[in-house]
This record gives sequence, C-alpha cells and structure tokens, in this order.
Amino acid sequence: MDYLAGLNSTQRDAVEQTEGPVMIVAGAGSGKTRVITYRVAHLIRKGVDPFHILVLTFTNKAAKEMRERIMKVVGAEAKNIWMGTFHSIFARILRVEAELIGYPKNFTIYDTDDTKSLLRSILKEMNLDDKLYNVNQVYGRISSAKNNLISPQEYNKNEALLAEDRENGRPQMGQVYFTYAQRCYRAGAMDFDDLLFKTNVLLNKHPETLHKYQHQFKYLMVDEYQDTNFSQYLIVKRLAAVNENICVVGDDAQSIYAFRGANIQNILNFQKDYPEVRVFKLEQNYRSTKMIVNAANSIIANNKNQLEKNVFSENADGDKIKVARAFSDNEEGKIVAEAILQDKALFSQQFKDFAILYRTNAQSRAMEESLRKLNIPYKIYGGTSFYQRKEIKDLIAYFRLTYNPNDEEALKRVINYPRRGIGDTTIDKIIVAADKHQYRLWDVVANAPMFLDGRSATAVSTFGTMIQSFQAIGNQLNAFDTAMHIAQHSGILKDLYEDKSVEGLSRYENIQELLNGIKEFSEREDIEEKSLDIFLQDVALLTNDDNDKDPNADTVSLMTIHSSKGLEFPSVFIVGLEENLFPSQLSVNSRAELEEERRLFYVAVTRAETKLHISYATSRYRWGTLNNCEPSRFLDELNPACLDLDFKPRMSAAAGEGGMKSDRIAWQQKDSFSKPKPKVVKTTSILPKAHVPTEGFAPSDTSGLQVGMEVEHERFGFGKVINLEGSSPDLKATIFFKELGQKQLLLKFAKLRIV
Ligand code: ATP
Ligand code: MG
Repeated sequence: MDYLAGLNSTQRDAVEQTEGPVMIVAGAGSGKTRVITYRVAHLIRKGVDPFHILVLTFTNKAAKEMRERIMKVVGAEAKNIWMGTFHSIFARILRVEAELIGYPKNFTIYDTDDTKSLLRSILKEMNLDDKLYNVNQVYGRISSAKNNLISPQEYNKNEALLAEDRENGRPQMGQVYFTYAQRCYRAGAMDFDDLLFKTNVLLNKHPETLHKYQHQFKYLMVDEYQDTNFSQYLIVKRLAAVNENICVVGDDAQSIYAFRGANIQNILNFQKDYPEVRVFKLEQNYRSTKMIVNAANSIIANNKNQLEKNVFSENADGDKIKVARAFSDNEEGKIVAEAILQDKALFSQQFKDFAILYRTNAQSRAMEESLRKLNIPYKIYGGTSFYQRKEIKDLIAYFRLTYNPNDEEALKRVINYPRRGIGDTTIDKIIVAADKHQYRLWDVVANAPMFLDGRSATAVSTFGTMIQSFQAIGNQLNAFDTAMHIAQHSGILKDLYEDKSVEGLSRYENIQELLNGIKEFSEREDIEEKSLDIFLQDVALLTNDDNDKDPNADTVSLMTIHSSKGLEFPSVFIVGLEENLFPSQLSVNSRAELEEERRLFYVAVTRAETKLHISYATSRYRWGTLNNCEPSRFLDELNPACLDLDFKPRMSAAAGEGGMKSDRIAWQQKDSFSKPKPKVVKTTSILPKAHVPTEGFAPSDTSGLQVGMEVEHERFGFGKVINLEGSSPDLKATIFFKELGQKQLLLKFAKLRIV
C-alpha cells in the first residue's frame, strides 16, 4: 500500500522534501500536522534511525497521537522518535546534562504553584508591597526576561528594563529576579521557563554538548511554529545549524501566544535565517465545511497584519453557523446543553463529537452545571491537573524531598504536614538561620539542635531523620514500595483516612489512584530503572490530559480556546461572545492585542468540522456582580450570509411556546448585534423547507408508537416510523419524513403526534 496516498500533491512534495530547510505556512485544517506525521513515517521508511528524529509539538497529547499514527506505518520503531513538547524534550536532555551547568541530575521542576509560592516568600522577606509587586506580574516579568534570554545579571545592568520597573513602581524588580534565580539554584530546581533558558545556556556554553545533539538530531520538525518564543526559536536554530534539515509548520493567523513571548517574527525570519528554504503553501482545508471556512475567512480578513492566504474547502457546503442569545450565563449553559442533546439524537452523534470552547476558565462553571442537570457526561481539558491537587502535591513533595532534600518548596510544604508541632515561628527561624549562614534549609533541618532549641529542635530533627530514612528506602526499593512506605510513614495516609467528609474520601481515593499509577509504572517491562525518582522526574510537566485513563470515553469536551489549538471536533460551541470577555477587556485598547484576540476567535471557529454554534449572554456575573453585556464585535465581523440567526434547540423552543416564560430566551435578529433587544423576538424561521404544522398541533402521547405508524412532527412534517430502539425514557425512533428524509429522534424530546 502506498503510505503516502492520503496526501495531496503539495503535501506530498513537502513530505518528500526531507533534506534542507522547509517551511510550510498554511491555513487552519490544511494538513500541516498531517504533513509532519507522514514526513516522520517517510523518513523512517527511508531508513533514518528514529533516534535521529526530533519532533516538537504543542501538547503531549498531540505527540502521543502522532506517535500512534506513525506506529501504524512503521511499527514499534516509532517509540524511539524524540517527540514531545519543548518542555518535556529539553527536560529530558537536561536530566542528562544538568551537572555541566551546576545543577543536580535529579533537579526538581517547580510548577507554577511552587514558583508563585517562592516569589511570595521572597517579596515578604524583602518587605515589598504585594499590591505593587503583584505576584502574577512579577512572575510574568521574570518569565519574559528568561524567554528573551536575559539573565538576572544582565537584567540588573539593563537601564531600559530597570527604568520601566521604576515607572511601574517596582524599583526592586531586578533584585527580586536575582534572588529568585539564586533560590531556585540553591534548591536544585528549575521552573518551566528555566527548562528552555538553561538549555540555551547549556548549548551556548558547552560546544561539545551542542555538537553531540546537532549530530544526534539529523532531522528536526516543529509544529505550531508561529507560537514559539525567542528562547525556543534559538534552541531550534542552534540544533539545526549543522544539518539544516529543519521543517517548521505554522499559520500566522493562529498565533495566540504573544502574551507569553511568542514571536510571529520567527515565521518571517525563517526565510532570512535559511535563504535556500523551500516554502510550501497549503490552502485547501480538509477539516471543515465551506460554510465554516468562509466564516473563518471573514473574521481574519479584519486583521491588517497577515500573510496572504486563500483558504478554501471542497467539503460539503454545510449548515449555517447557529447564533444564540441568552439572557444570562446560566441560560447560555442550558441552551448549549439542550442543543447537544438535540443534535445527538437528530444526527446520531456521540457526546465525544461535541466541544464547548470558552475564552476564560471561569466560564466552565455555568456550562458544567447545565450539563450535569441533563446528565451529559463531560471532561474538562487543560483544567487543574490531577498532579496539581493538594493531597497529590503533598505526597509528591515528600517524594521530591526524598530525592532532592534541597528542594525548598517541597520542604516548606510538608515540614508541618501532617501536623507535627513545627509552627510558623520555627519555620521562620529555619529560614533566617539558613540566610544568615548561606546554608540551605535542609542543612539547618538536618542539624536542627545547632540552630533551634528545645521542643522545636526535637520536632525538626525527627522530621529530618524521617526524610533520611526515606532516602535509604528509596535507594533500595522499587517505585511502588518506596511510595507506599512514604505514604504510610509520613502520616499522610492516616491523616486522609481519618477525614470522613466527602472531600476527605475523595482525597484518599486520589492518593490511592496515584499509588496505582506508580504500581503500574513499577511493573512496566519496557523500562529498566523503576525507582521512584524516575517516575517522579517530569510529573510537574504532566497535564490533566496526560492522566486521561480513557481517552476514548464518550464525553463532551470542555476547554479554553487556547488549549483547543490543533484539535478538531464535528460539532463546536463557542460561548461567551461578548465585549470585554471576548475580546477580553485588556485587549480592546491596542490594535496588536485586538488582532491577537481575533486570531483566537479564528482558531476557535476553525476547530469545527461540520457544525458550529456561537452564543452570548446579555448579562453575566463577573467578580460577584451582575453585569449587562454587549454582544462581541466579532459577531458583526462574521459574514452574515454564514449565520443562522434563528436557531433554538427544540427543548427550549418547546418550553417557550408551551407556556414557559417566553422572554427568558430570545434569538438574535439580523443586523442588530450591537443593540440586544430585551424582549422576545418573534422570528420567522429561515430553516429550509420549514413545515407549517397542522392547525392545532399538539404533541400526543407517543408511548404506543410502533414501526409502520404515520406521524407528524412539529417541524419536520409527516413521516413514517421505520425503526424503534432503546427503551423508555431513552426510546429512539427512526422516522422517514416525506420532505427531509430519514431522521432519528429521541422520543422524550420530539414534538410528535401519531396521525
Ligand atoms: P491546524 O491549523 O488546526 O493545526 P492543520 O493544518 O495541522 O490544522 P491537520 O490537523 O493536519 O491540519 O488536518 C486537518 C484535517 O484534515 C485532519 O482530520 C486531517 O486528517 C485531514 N486531512 C489533511 N490533509 C488531508 C488530505 N490530503 N486528504 C484527506 N484528509 C486530509
Ligand atoms: Mg495542526
């Protein structure tokens, strides 16, 4: 079988152009990721050793999916490809090389929580006002310095940066960065940005190491290249410098991470960096209907800064985009949930065909509530990771401390959990003593009687001895036995076991779940070393999606638009299309930021394959107060020919007409987005072939319905029952309608009468 058969001719050319620099700038859904996948398979088929291939993806999930596809073509060899996110790949390299830059091999990775907690304690020690020195802003500032490869020393010499800080009322910012970096170093820890920053330091300072990896990675590929920041860009450029077999794919119209330092210039500069680059343009979208592609094009046309592209689809025309207006966020949730049930029944879809996308995480609450009410199973992606839950972090902190006792965030986290009589005053004393003598916290803990007196010295010593005993165990036993020992002897299991509240029970179960995971790890046959520190290595990099036990479960997906990048779903709901929410309040004053929001909307729309729903509420709770909202300007930008402004899920509609307060839901009329009408708008349906129900239409009891019976549906008209399946209350009827053909209806929702 020709394994390249599933490609069009440009895609195929790009796949076969394996040597030299290649850039694919292409529209959404045009097969960029597919080209990378096939290209890797092609390279391996041609005899390239998978160990020599490096593929950088946007999420771990994307890497996993690609690997599975490649496996189908080349078999188990695919396991050896270096494929993953920038963070996971370079963490893996740093695990081997860390000592060259002064870090222990088993360095800890500080996640966002650890980073913020460390920053808070530094701000407190320096007596800085936490309003001026808002921890998120301070973190952002340090992060952007690192992503631009500015070290603390350079930062403190950079007059322009320091002047900016003074203007923002943060004259000590440089010092905060300096102290933060020092403390991470002392703790043998790297934060997320360090994984890239330190990789650059490593490759810059150690030419022999750079050389080694340049020769190892003979072929490099980067997906979503438009969202790489300077630090990532430089790593890729350095690694590719010898062979120059580098292929990057991206879409400038989908660049959505400028706030994190992603630099669209990377795409534009690629041609300057590699003058002999072969550029491929893909313009055919294979994902979506014509309607969706046209709508997406009409949005992005409003951006001034973009590369010229003409994205088109040869798929079916498709339905218009259904636009719904709700009176509140709760109402919006209800509309979405009902529409999902309705579409699922009408079009025989599964729950996993649906995705709900929102601008901010907070919007998931209203959606979740409505889904739960209708018993719709769902899963939130990119939400708080399993590994971020308190009880899991607590136990993992013990693990971290066992292998890296200098890990100060872990130490502070568990020194008095479960409670063992080490109060805040004692902890402060330990910190002060460490600072005074330039010791690490662990040195003070391990020699407590030298620094503390009486009871606190004893309590701290006991804690220190316990950690040392864990270290001894960790060196002898496998991951599971070590983990179990620590869970028991630290007192965590007992503490959670004694908490009989519902939350306590669920925390206990989570710990069990973690231990189960470690058990599985201990029994794996494909890895040699099964000690707990190997299991632990990149736990901070895991997301919720990586702990997904059953990725094929039939659930609706909920996620922010940012995390939906690269994904696709048959039916997509984009919610919260309101001014100051989407586009976000912070973005509306600058063109650059507004354009980024628009690209985000473009990303959202282009996730949909066949059906797209957009909704907004005219009032919404934000920060605890009810606000009136205006429809988003983005609605006005969509080509009106692509919109169905008269959409309503049948359940709501039925309730409305059947006597429910009909002013609770109104549906938007054409050309009036900017002036929401508060009262119900009586619309004439623009659905094709709308059925005018027989006068006096009233749904009758359909419990006696049988195959062969003639029925009338309120909207679809007359038809004949050709099949019945399921049992009450989920009985479904397949009906052949005279005008519309075959449809499957869930009887409990169908407005049907037997004629
Ligand atoms: P995005 O910009 O959203 O990341 P993309 O350019 O990476 O999109 P893919 O995800 O690779 O696009 O492809 C979109 C969809 O189109 C996928 O389902 C893919 O399998 C399909 N596809 C791509 N090329 C072809 C082709 N030549 N024939 C059939 N289907 C294709
Ligand atoms: Mg893609």
